[in-house]
Amino acid sequence: MCKALIIGAGGVGTVVTQKIAANPVFTEVMLASRTKSKCDAVAAAIGGNRVKTAQVDADSVAELCALFRAFKPDIVVNVALPYQDLTIMDACLECGCNYLDTANYEPKDEAHFEYSWQWAYQDRFKAAGLTAILGCGFDPGVTAIFTAYAAKHHFDEIHYLDIVDCNAGNHGMAFATNFNPEINIREVTQKGRYYENGKWVVTEPHEIHRPLNYPGIGERESYVIYHEELESLVKNYPTIRRARFWMTFGQEYLTHLRVIQNIGMARIDPIIYNGVEIVPIQFLKAVLPDPKSLGANYHGQTSIGCRIRGVKDGKERTYYIYNNCDHEAAFKETGTQAVSFTTGVPAALGASMWAKGLWRGAGVFNVEEFDPDPFLAELGPQGLPWHELFDVDIEV
Ligand code: NDP
Repeated sequence: MCKALIIGAGGVGTVVTQKIAANPVFTEVMLASRTKSKCDAVAAAIGGNRVKTAQVDADSVAELCALFRAFKPDIVVNVALPYQDLTIMDACLECGCNYLDTANYEPKDEAHFEYSWQWAYQDRFKAAGLTAILGCGFDPGVTAIFTAYAAKHHFDEIHYLDIVDCNAGNHGMAFATNFNPEINIREVTQKGRYYENGKWVVTEPHEIHRPLNYPGIGERESYVIYHEELESLVKNYPTIRRARFWMTFGQEYLTHLRVIQNIGMARIDPIIYNGVEIVPIQFLKAVLPDPKSLGANYHGQTSIGCRIRGVKDGKERTYYIYNNCDHEAAFKETGTQAVSFTTGVPAALGASMWAKGLWRGAGVFNVEEFDPDPFLAELGPQGLPWHELFDVDIEV
């Protein structure tokens, strides 16, 4: 018996709720978010009174605790925004609930993400005998689980890790982001950062780029950006000499981003407009397309994976493990596009790993610290089949 509470009724929350509701390991399911009508719409589409709904402001520990005490969840799946990670973790500790999220904490007033804030909860989760699972989407999430699988089965030592994330889909809009616009623009306009020989190397945004070939897609210009799983992976796999994260961007997207930045619309500090305080990037989010609405006209695929170079039995080898996800297929199944789908499926699966007792422990864990095998055995059947290539040219 496992009661799951999902927080956040956006694109990702829609997929998580559908997948958790369809899994009999969860005896009771609730979706709570800032706007209850959005939860009700998701619950109604699932039907059968399977999903309860509630309104909650996840910035308030008191409101969260009132909800947790009423519903008594065993696990809380946080797919609201990274800003809410710490309040939800605090409420979990106060009420004795386990925790899972897909994105690491970010302070609202600083576009900066690192695990230190959440790793600082280690002793408290340990003392409470509760599990906190961090970063269980696709990236972070499956990319770290792919790395754990490679380390377990195919390498004695991983030396070079390149995570490659291609979205070759076309939604027909001049500019839109694939997940929450505010979080997405904060992420992709940051300075680049990668790990090499024990140090972090910082670059200008999008400074390092080159074309990479993606299976079933072809060549796409790919850019080194900072991504949070690099931080936990180099800690958990100390043989790694270099770890980078590559993401594809089209020229049109980059031009829009540059304009948005140049005219000040990416600013995260408040300004006064007509006597009212507004944050430009939050205003921008309000006028950009809702990522959840992109699905209907989205065609093409995403391809995300890990390209690894290292040593097995004294011999150098290369390895490429990846998933391709089709936007139209994702929309047909869940009514959302592939980015919400590739994030929501792993989050729901991670929660079921916990519910089945396969991923347990007292403390705060990144997903690569758990056994990758049962998770990857179910990832394909849940809609994200994965593939392996051995000793091929991995280009990087
Ligand atoms: P959306 O903006 O579509 O959804 C976020 C939801 O959270 C909204 O329903 C919003 O409510 C709700 N919310 C925001 N603030 C609060 C609050 N204070 N209290 C309660 N609810 C709140 O985002 P996505 O679904 O696209 O993304 C969800 C999460 O997934 C993000 O954290 C994102 O970073 C992460 N992500 C992770 C990926 C991965 O691979 N690891 C990839 C993509 C996303 P309202 O509807 O009222 O605005």
